[in-house]
Amino acid sequence: MSYDDQNIFAKILRGEIPCDKVYEDEHVLAFNDIGPQAPVHILVIPKGKYVDLADFSAKASGQEITAFHRAVAKIIKDKNLSGDGFRAIANAGNHGGQEVPHYHLHILGGAKLGRMIGD
Ligand code: AMP
Repeated sequence: MSYDDQNIFAKILRGEIPCDKVYEDEHVLAFNDIGPQAPVHILVIPKGKYVDLADFSAKASGQEITAFHRAVAKIIKDKNLSGDGFRAIANAGNHGGQEVPHYHLHILGGAKLGRMIGD
């Protein structure tokens, strides 16, 4: 799939629509999900134009990949999620139920989460 510049996270990255920012650096932005599925529900996105996890993993630079995962670690620490645990999900494509075609990692926590296969 080619990257769609009109997706909502591209608009957030361009500053065209607001987000509830949690973290930002040169390569990464993280913000609260607009429709939280848990007490903590944060989306971590690379600033580069990657459609999904596979695209990001295949094409992003080492710097971008490192920055992304260091940001994830910092958010988990800052939100105190390590002790009780958390879930990280990357939906991709039709079968994965991806709604926004810009790679994003959901970080969910703050409560015991239910099982995740199916609805
Ligand atoms: P996915 O189904 O993995 O593509 O998830 C997309 C997520 O983006 C959903 O959990 C939405 O609630 C969330 N979302 C959509 N628009 C916004 C927005 N403007 N700000 C924050 N989160 C959003």
